[in-house]
Amino acid sequence: MGAITGTFKGFGVTFSHMFRKIVTTDYPFEPAPAAPRYHGRHILNRHPDGLEKCIGCELCAWACPADAIYVEGGDNTDEQRFSPGERYASIYQINYARCIFCGLCIEACPTRSLTMSNEYELARDSRQDLIFTKEQLLAPLLPGMEQPPHPMRLGETEKDYYLGALTNPGTSAGAEKAPWSETGTKDATGEAS
Ligand code: SF4
Ligand code: SF4
Repeated sequence: MGAITGTFKGFGVTFSHMFRKIVTTDYPFEPAPAAPRYHGRHILNRHPDGLEKCIGCELCAWACPADAIYVEGGDNTDEQRFSPGERYASIYQINYARCIFCGLCIEACPTRSLTMSNEYELARDSRQDLIFTKEQLLAPLLPGMEQPPHPMRLGETEKDYYLGALTNPGTSAGAEKAPWSETGTKDATGEAS
């Protein structure tokens, strides 16, 4: 008797779910939008003239509990300038096989160079492909930006840059959502195609 009651209870659970709203999403054809503050893949942002905000200080790498970030700094010169400061990141890598998306690195960044996007499609076929390079992480050039290296266009000092960036929301446009995720395609360098 108990077994029959249990069987009908089991069917009851199934039956009650038949009339509930279907929540299945048509992934990957129609990916569900992420929450606005979702911690997705990182972005290395630029100043409005295209220079990189990253100054190669390595604070993000030291803050990372998973040892997922590797940075090597290089010296800017008047002929070869990539950022408004003395230094820039000559090598910048994030290993997404290690990253736990905690966000401590973006909290540590003194220039707001490093932020996180909503992009969550990070599965790759090999571990090597999970190591994203600086070229892949850099925000794409927005209209009016110029590909570094080039001289400082927004002022003589780093302070000019930081104060200007604060009043220009366009400087971090790539941080809210990676533009290439709109098209769903990007080439090997991470640029939109
Ligand atoms: S999100 Fe966390 S784990 Fe990932 S790189 Fe940043 S600090 Fe490291
Ligand atoms: S991303 Fe920020 S914290 Fe990391 S090296 Fe660049 S400036 Fe420093």
